[in-house]
Amino acid sequence: MAKILIVEDDRSIVTNLTEFLKGEGFEAEAVGSVSDALYRAGEGFDLALLDIGLPDGNGFSVCSELKSRFDLPVIFLTASSDEFSVVTGLELGAEDYIAKPFRPRELVSRIRSVLRRTGKAGSVIELEGLRVDTEKALVTKGGREIPLSALEYKLLLVFLNNRGLVLSRAKLLEEIWDAAGDFVNDNTLTVYIKRLRDKIEDDPAEPRIILTVRGLGYKVGP
Ligand code: CA
Repeated sequence: MAKILIVEDDRSIVTNLTEFLKGEGFEAEAVGSVSDALYRAGEGFDLALLDIGLPDGNGFSVCSELKSRFDLPVIFLTASSDEFSVVTGLELGAEDYIAKPFRPRELVSRIRSVLRRTGKAGSVIELEGLRVDTEKALVTKGGREIPLSALEYKLLLVFLNNRGLVLSRAKLLEEIWDAAGDFVNDNTLTVYIKRLRDKIEDDPAEPRIILTVRGLGYKVGP
């Protein structure tokens, strides 16, 4: 169960959010100041939700500390879509941000996505005999390890995290771009998908894990 630190001084947000996160299966603890955030950050949290305007300082400084001292993924709760804030936040290494007022469900989906991306979700995904331990970044099939390159692994996670959804090539390129940090073109994507299928499918010519959806893209799972 992921443990979320809420750093927010608006009591109404804290109350609603804490309740909602607990209902979604998270552990959630809230603090309302910079000093309390830093005091408690070492208590085994997996992710921090960070307000920017706090009574004894601002969230930007807390973010740096949380990242450097506690290796804690951060999602900013921003009061406005102030572009400067957003850019600053992301430059400080925050994983994401969401503007208030936000829909709790939208925030939870961002939280899940960040936890997966940062390997804090600690989950094991199994499909068609394939087993992916996202905490150890270990992929096995029939008990044997399948060595994947960083990009192949990232691509596989994108597929697994979107089970049941059709992923267009454009969407895949967007996700892979994030991971690679440099340009991945359409042909390269084709090559990566082929390599990945060669490694994880029993019969790459008749894939059962990464399915082709003609004219639309790809899909994993039913
Ligand atoms: Ca505030």
